Amino acid sequence: GIPRRGIRGNFVPPIRGSGNNVGNVTSRNAGKGEDSLDDSTRRCLEMLVGPDGELPEKLRNIEPRLIEHISNEIMHRDPNVRWNDIAGLEHAKKCVTEMVIWPLLRPDIFKGCRSPGRGLLLFGPPGTGKTMIGKAIAGEAKATFFYISASSLTSKWIGEGEKLVRALFGVASCRQPAVIFVDEIDSLLSQRKSEGEHESSRRLKTQFLIEMEGFDNVSEQILLIGATNRPQELDEAARRRLTKRLYVPLPSSEARAWIVKSLLEKDGLFKLSDEDIVSICKFTDGYSGSDMKNLVKDASMGPLREALRHGIEITKLKKEDMRPVTLQDFESALQEVRPSVSLNELGAYEDWNKQFGSLA
Ligand code: ADP
Repeated sequence: GIPRRGIRGNFVPPIRGSGNNVGNVTSRNAGKGEDSLDDSTRRCLEMLVGPDGELPEKLRNIEPRLIEHISNEIMHRDPNVRWNDIAGLEHAKKCVTEMVIWPLLRPDIFKGCRSPGRGLLLFGPPGTGKTMIGKAIAGEAKATFFYISASSLTSKWIGEGEKLVRALFGVASCRQPAVIFVDEIDSLLSQRKSEGEHESSRRLKTQFLIEMEGFDNVSEQILLIGATNRPQELDEAARRRLTKRLYVPLPSSEARAWIVKSLLEKDGLFKLSDEDIVSICKFTDGYSGSDMKNLVKDASMGPLREALRHGIEITKLKKEDMRPVTLQDFESALQEVRPSVSLNELGAYEDWNKQFGSLA
């Protein structure tokens, strides 16, 4: 017959028991016949079919549109971040390598006494590289990366969050090794019984904990990473499942210098002297990594604004018309870009780290 080709021209295994791709598979999904599936949904399902021509058990009762959403919006084959892209945090990198990357690369060695925890919590102020670490873990461990923000589960997927969580863990188990990154995990696993807490959000939480329990002891190669700026909100059950808890603090002065250098170098704009860098570091105490990025962005607009002030039109502007970025550009940018974390918030992170952190 005609060879079957999936997207990118790769071979798609035929599906047993039906003349049509995914016919028998999808008819089981919430009663939807194959005819009601559009091509993109069909392709997503085809890619998840096992060697036996069937969808894995975990996905059989899940609606195709949820599986498609997970495959297209939540799953990333290579998030393209490596350790070298992350400034500082040497200690966290070293620990993460040992605690989670090696086990994902060598499951045969990391079993028995060495069997790793399946849950990692990254906590600390916003914009410090927690998401980057999650992506780098997936990148270094050659794992599929799943990113979901817990607040979207409770807001955007009202009433459906539970089903989406099942789809998420189901697809991840077909794409092992896998890293599931749950941003703002506090909003999902919070201990606060808000007055308005609906039955549905309680069920969502329960479902999530059940799924986590599910891959705890079996030989699945799935790592769950939760990130939060509010670790204090996590309850005991959440802490128990997130066995490793790493503090991701504000960048050190060296790390801030590195961010400035590497961002400007990437664009060929780096002409600052060592003294300039020292001054920038001095003025940016308390800035997060993401504040630093915004600062560099703003500073690098300086030469452009100046050229335009001298009457050059934007459409006629040549790269040579612009001078390099200077310390003065940073000084004006510092007026615009203020630190987003207040120093008195840091104490709370340090306290929590002392009490619950893995490396306190
Ligand atoms: P978080 O998840 O902690 O809120 P992110 O990892 O999303 O923060 O970081 C946001 C952005 O800030 C990143 O895309 C990156 O540009 C910059 N950034 C933050 N921390 C670092 C760091 N340690 N090294 C390099 N860039 C950083």
